[in-house]
Amino acid sequence: MSGTTARFPRQPVLFCDFDGTITMNDNIVAVMKHFHPPGWDAIVQDIIADAKSVKQGVGEMFALLPSSMKDEVRDYILTSAGIRPGFAELLAWCKAHDVPFYVTSGGIDFFVHPLLAPFGIPADHIYCNGSDFSGERIRITWPHDCDEFCDNRGRCGMCKTAVIRRFPEDRYYRILIGDSVTDFPGAKIVDLVFSRSHLTDKCRELDLPHLPFETFHDVIHHLEQGGLRS
Ligand SMILES: [Mg+2]
Ligand SMILES: [Zn+2]
Repeated sequence: MSGTTARFPRQPVLFCDFDGTITMNDNIVAVMKHFHPPGWDAIVQDIIADAKSVKQGVGEMFALLPSSMKDEVRDYILTSAGIRPGFAELLAWCKAHDVPFYVTSGGIDFFVHPLLAPFGIPADHIYCNGSDFSGERIRITWPHDCDEFCDNRGRCGMCKTAVIRRFPEDRYYRILIGDSVTDFPGAKIVDLVFSRSHLTDKCRELDLPHLPFETFHDVIHHLEQGGLRS
């Protein structure tokens, strides 16, 4: 560590949500609103009310869509999802300061990877769910399911805390960037949260160390200042 990152007590590492964080909106909700398969809104309400896990709900929503719609769904997301300002700059900042950057997404590979393609993030730094279009309906696969230490065991789908735990807290200053329900478990175990939307409310409620942000330029500014010590 040198220069700016020396302002942190340990090596910083960033874990960044995708839907509603890197992209301006939640792509899964946008797809469901656009294609409107019968029953999707009840599933979303169940996820929000925690009556259904994220894993179960996301699996059920995509199962409402036929596999033949793969290209249509992907193209819709590619044309409608906007990238939050400052994202490329944040990646450049991380590179310049040797700060590892991981995408920890509850989204699905067939739209996460194409949307991130222009940014040159190594594939092994992108964690998201998988997809199978070989059956009649879209089936979501879960290559990064919860580990044995996850309090939310079996309910995450893509388990952000399992990824975070690979970076020991005594060696790393763990920073999560996110906006919503899939970020709540991770927010409880990191050193600092950059939060938007529902995640800001949750961090306030639980008194977790957090800095609200709107663009990634804000995030860079806070990182330059050494996070919470600004
Ligand atoms: Mg999100
Ligand atoms: Zn989990």
